[in-house]
Amino acid sequence: MLVESRNVVLLVGGVGGAKLAAGLARVVPPEHLTIIVNTGDDFWHYGLRICPDLDTITYTLGGLVDRVNGWGIAGDTTATLDALGRLGEKPWFRLGDQDIATHLLRTSRLQAGESLTQVMAAITAALGVRCRVLPMADEPVATRVDTVEHGELDFQDYFVRHRWQPTVRALRLAGIEHATISAAVRHAVENADLIVIGPSNPWLSIQPILSVPGLRQLIAAQPVPRVAVTPIIGGQAVKGPTVKIMRELGYTVSLETVTGFYKGTINGFIVDAQDQGADFDDLQFSFFDTLMNSDEKRIALAEHLLSWTSDWIS
Ligand code: GDP
Repeated sequence: MLVESRNVVLLVGGVGGAKLAAGLARVVPPEHLTIIVNTGDDFWHYGLRICPDLDTITYTLGGLVDRVNGWGIAGDTTATLDALGRLGEKPWFRLGDQDIATHLLRTSRLQAGESLTQVMAAITAALGVRCRVLPMADEPVATRVDTVEHGELDFQDYFVRHRWQPTVRALRLAGIEHATISAAVRHAVENADLIVIGPSNPWLSIQPILSVPGLRQLIAAQPVPRVAVTPIIGGQAVKGPTVKIMRELGYTVSLETVTGFYKGTINGFIVDAQDQGADFDDLQFSFFDTLMNSDEKRIALAEHLLSWTSDWIS
């Protein structure tokens, strides 16, 4: 049934990107689909290495995800966090009991010397995810958020503990200079027939991926359709701080700001049908209903991406 024979590479963060990943996984055979995931949100917590975006993608593709939140495992319990509370801790990052198993396994395998790419290959395989889910790099990179109210915060401190309310002054990617393009990421990009930037936060989720030294240039050099799906609809974010950050960093809230941010990297853009009338120089663009609030709409957007790009030469 899955007849797509092109190799598709999708760049994503977590929840927003996971919806498109799930749609693509329904229409692209697993051997032709690779997902490159932001790891700038990764952090250490109670001695565990936590990779929120990689896990959101993995749980979504493995059919385990809590569909209400968009992250975590459906039906997971919080006995471990409750026990930590009894010990006097005030856990602020929600970790379900089953979810903790993922972090335990990942941490122990990393400490035994495996790369994050190898660890994620093992976890995805065990959960029945057959496409490749790749970290953007194996070396640790940490997004830090410089805020007006609290100075520089660790990403999860900003995003979860402070619920992304502080005013962002600047973003910094600690360790990015040591990040390298892994063999798996290079192979996927060099063999891609279609590269898609998912509807993820351009500044928080996609910027870290494109900042891995050489990766943006490698993507831009591929003579294939390289299409971003809009992360804003009618001037608003579906969820999260995309528009708030855009404003705080001094940009105009507009689709042109998003395409300008991806300038040179993308050659195509999918605009939401609500923004009919938008116009872009130097880009192929297409209007489509991009709000993926059902399985059908995820699949429809994935199918549109494939059919729209099948007959254009970049
Ligand atoms: P992440 O950056 O991939 O972790 O995802 P989030 O769920 O935090 O959302 C980030 C961006 O994706 C925001 O700008 C949202 O507006 C956008 N987004 C989330 N869901 C959708 C959707 O269904 N359609 C579109 N077009 N954008 C979405």
